[in-house]
Amino acid sequence: MGLFELLKKFSEASGVPGFEHNVANLIQDELKNYVDFMYTDQLGNLITVKGSGGKSILIAAHMDEVGLIVKHIDEKGFIRFAKLGGVADHVLLSSRVVIHTSKGPLYGVIGCKPIHLMREDERKQLVPYDKMFIDIGAKSLEEAKNFGVKVGDPISLDKNLIQLKNNLVCGKAFDDRVGCTILVEVLKRSKPKNKVYGVFTVQEEVGLRGATVSAYSINPNLGIAVDTTTSADHPEVAEHESPVKLGLGPAILVADGRRDSLGGGLISNLKLRNMLVDLAEKLRIPYQIEVMEGGTTDATAIQLTQKGIPACVISIPTRYVHSFSEVLNLDDVENLIKLLIAFVEQEKIEI
Ligand SMILES: [Zn+2]
Repeated sequence: MGLFELLKKFSEASGVPGFEHNVANLIQDELKNYVDFMYTDQLGNLITVKGSGGKSILIAAHMDEVGLIVKHIDEKGFIRFAKLGGVADHVLLSSRVVIHTSKGPLYGVIGCKPIHLMREDERKQLVPYDKMFIDIGAKSLEEAKNFGVKVGDPISLDKNLIQLKNNLVCGKAFDDRVGCTILVEVLKRSKPKNKVYGVFTVQEEVGLRGATVSAYSINPNLGIAVDTTTSADHPEVAEHESPVKLGLGPAILVADGRRDSLGGGLISNLKLRNMLVDLAEKLRIPYQIEVMEGGTTDATAIQLTQKGIPACVISIPTRYVHSFSEVLNLDDVENLIKLLIAFVEQEKIEI
């Protein structure tokens, strides 16, 4: 299966935080003949192990995607929802969703008051998510219950992956199914000279929960998170606000965290970061250096476990992150796979 097909398969699968098992099953299927062994921990992280000797390297990619969860069903069978992860309200409206019920998947659409009925001042404002609801076509609460909907059912967005020009693709959940795709390819193609823990984590979008426990139990020599990063190389964003661009290579992170202070994030281990940069230079793999305001990754949890673990992040530049139509360049994906393979195949890693 090619890179495009694999990303398509992972992107179109559903797995909002806490409900990642569909994605875990697909990854398990892909890797069963390529790793030494794998297991699932108490939180649902899928931990795969390949190679021995050298250093123990944890590479993390999170399986969860931002999504929604059923909060309330009203007398007429309309559904109110809570958010799982950082989703902007404006990307939700009119979206088609899938509610994952115990009786199977159920389609719905996110509705709100139509423009015709909005007052003049309402028309100028964004509709907040608590003024939206999901319509599954039910006539009553009773009927909705019969269809299988319950409070607590996870809800994912219904979006197919499509191809744009110049090797760009557009789809949902690239954050972080592209990381999962990359990690699967690295585990398939590499002959590591180190012990590689390929960890497919859960619940990253609600606070790095899977990485926190898996890194603690593995206690590796070093950790790398593979994720997406915001690339706003498009209209309405100044270049200095978002310097990372699509197609110029994976982004090696210097620091990330909250917008005001870079608090709560990661300052990449200098040695590890330089090692990745030197390797990219040596192999002539394009890369970008990044300082990212307004978010963080699993590497933040990894660095703070046990006695402290050297950690770094390498990301795929992605437009419209946390919308349901994210856009990335497959050349960046291939380049990151190459860089990570070379990294785990190194004879000697000094850290
Ligand atoms: Zn992510």
